[in-house]
Amino acid sequence: MLVKSLKFRDSELAFADEQIKILNGSAENTFSSYLRKSGINKLSSGKVEILQINIGKMCNQTCTHCHVDAGPDRKEIMTKETMLIILEKLSGTDIKTIDITGGAPEMNPDFRWFVTELKNLDLRIIVRCNLTIILSNPKYYDLPEFYKENNIEVISSLPCYHKSNTDKQRGAGVFEKSIKALKMLNEIGYGISGTGLMLNLVYNPVGAILPSSQITLENEYKKVLFENHRILFNSLYTITNMPVSRFLEYLIDSGNYESYMEKLIDCFNPAAAENVMCTNTVSVGWDGYLYDCDFNQMLEIKVMNSKKGHIKDFDLTYLDSREIITGQHCFGCTAGSGSSCGGAVT
Ligand code: SF4
Ligand code: SF4
Repeated sequence: MLVKSLKFRDSELAFADEQIKILNGSAENTFSSYLRKSGINKLSSGKVEILQINIGKMCNQTCTHCHVDAGPDRKEIMTKETMLIILEKLSGTDIKTIDITGGAPEMNPDFRWFVTELKNLDLRIIVRCNLTIILSNPKYYDLPEFYKENNIEVISSLPCYHKSNTDKQRGAGVFEKSIKALKMLNEIGYGISGTGLMLNLVYNPVGAILPSSQITLENEYKKVLFENHRILFNSLYTITNMPVSRFLEYLIDSGNYESYMEKLIDCFNPAAAENVMCTNTVSVGWDGYLYDCDFNQMLEIKVMNSKKGHIKDFDLTYLDSREIITGQHCFGCTAGSGSSCGGAVT
């Protein structure tokens, strides 16, 4: 069995410990051995083009697949002080894209201030909006207008165009609220050709399976959402569920962990490995620590050089050519067409 050497205790840190052991070469079928077989001795970043910033783990939802383990009870939130440091470090760099995520990033009380300040730096800004946040409280009703005023690109999860699958993964009533929020966005021009207001949707499988073809699914989504709800959007990103956090717990609890990992490993795609998102992205945690990606962040695996591991020590000379810390979870990025926060990579 491919992953029989992994003995899980019921915690993410135990999982991270196992990853580190694997990194040290104590197991077969490691991600690094697959990289080597593909002629990649070690995974290194290129020039950092995207800063992905997690401004807090609080969320109005508790989705079953969430790799952040986000929810209403999470208290970790980025402070304005950390945001000020990010703004200072970004100024004068070539980084032009900021990807703001959470939790529900809008629940951070300094969210709107931070977005406006980033906009003053003339940056392309993406916000990962879960849609239901817009309808969760009157103070968020005007979020669509706020996004429009700041020309924010909105990326939102909708794991299925049918109610049952969406509600199964994201909670009862989420589908109906998501449809209402999408209509609000469409009404002010989001997702409508010629407006320049980008509305992209994210599909991730419900259950322990890999996503199917991005282009096929996008066409299906466009057809069904328009026919049934008159909803328009720009692109669909298919994302593989990563064996991390809440989805990892689900895999272990449901007895699917080993078969899922075998599936990911069997579908390893060397072309995807060359384009994984850590090669052009750095992830900033709510407390300012730096990670090779959002998934490493959730596993608490910081960038390799601990002296350059916090936004206070932000050093693009290092980050632009750093060695990436990989582990078995990385197979989630390289299976099939590959997977990143921006969808398939090949
Ligand atoms: S997947 Fe997104 S919307 Fe769902 S709990 Fe996690 S952060 Fe919140
Ligand atoms: S999980 Fe993170 S570090 Fe691993 S390949 Fe994917 S993006 Fe890179």
